[in-house]
Amino acid sequence: MADAQQLLNKIEKFVDGNFQEVVNWRRHMHQYPELSFKEEKTAQFIKEKLLSFGLQVKTNIGGNGLIGILEGDQPGKTIALRADFDALPIHDEKEVPYKSQNPGVMHACGHDGHTSALLGTAQALSVYREKLKGKVVFIFQPAEETPPGGAKFMVEDGVLDGVDYVFGIHLDSQAPLGKVLVGEGYQMAAVDKFAIHIQGRGGHGARPHEAIDSIVIGTEIVSALQKIVSRGVDPLKSAVVTIGVFQSGSAFNVIADKAVLEGTVRTFDEDVRKQVENQIRSIVEGITSAFGAGYSIDYLNGYPALYNHPQETETVRSLLSEVFKEENVLEMKPTMGAEDFSYYLREKPGTYFRVGSQNEDKATHYPHHHPKFDIDERALLNSQKSFIKIVSHYLF
Ligand code: MN
Repeated sequence: MADAQQLLNKIEKFVDGNFQEVVNWRRHMHQYPELSFKEEKTAQFIKEKLLSFGLQVKTNIGGNGLIGILEGDQPGKTIALRADFDALPIHDEKEVPYKSQNPGVMHACGHDGHTSALLGTAQALSVYREKLKGKVVFIFQPAEETPPGGAKFMVEDGVLDGVDYVFGIHLDSQAPLGKVLVGEGYQMAAVDKFAIHIQGRGGHGARPHEAIDSIVIGTEIVSALQKIVSRGVDPLKSAVVTIGVFQSGSAFNVIADKAVLEGTVRTFDEDVRKQVENQIRSIVEGITSAFGAGYSIDYLNGYPALYNHPQETETVRSLLSEVFKEENVLEMKPTMGAEDFSYYLREKPGTYFRVGSQNEDKATHYPHHHPKFDIDERALLNSQKSFIKIVSHYLF
């Protein structure tokens, strides 16, 4: 035990000493962001770093994804740590030396931070490889921001084969630097998307009896869909049904033949998810058929809900309490946002937690996806120390 603590101290010292290099990596990626599914140069950058640390590297996993494998000298568990590395179609409005050089593309969610922190973790652990009992798989994942996402394809390509536990982080500009947020159970929603096409029959506004009014049918459908959550879903469970698009009609005195409704469904439980989909389908079928209209539905299942496994979450909570002190480990609150880390947690036990990156003095309080989003880079240190502490628990 004393040995393990000594080793941890050494690695943490390495991390502190290497801070500026990790910041430089982050700033490089920040200047050259790439959109989901187009992250070739970033993948190349990551690959070169991993090779320079002496890791075994596998590229083109599920697209632009890659992994670095660090095998300790002694046998033991296999821990996977994941970072995402895609950027967003947002124009960087910050005035900083490391501002995005790719107009209209920006690391506005902090994925550059996740990736540089995971690279730093890989480098620090690689220095002490001979002390490790087991293996670390560093997963660098593209396309988190754009469904179907990158995680699904990396999992299908076998990145979790032989892995015992999987952990991931997200920087959090709404949490102060020095805080971490941990929580068990469902933390982020399953996100589905649908488009309903109503086919009525056009006609003169003065002769409604000869037409099938797709606008009137559409309003009946919108209204009925509101009742799925209020009347259909168990009140102790959660769901959202939102219609964001209702398009129809072209002239004030013409009955519209077509209407299009688009919306999103957010749920936690898989059975509620299925229930909501089924009810949407039967409401649309029932109402259109009652009025003699035709319809079609495009229903796309997005990321599943993110479920943090209770036991591993508790382990991480107590480990992080040692790193940051108990008062700095806050309870994470579930949101109806989405994150494709859920695909890993469907396969293997683990947890996903947040690392505070806000410091008002440094203009790092803008929300994620804001054109002025930025992080206090000391959050990279906290991210690395979190990862390393978790690895130490399983592999030292
Ligand atoms: Mn993100």
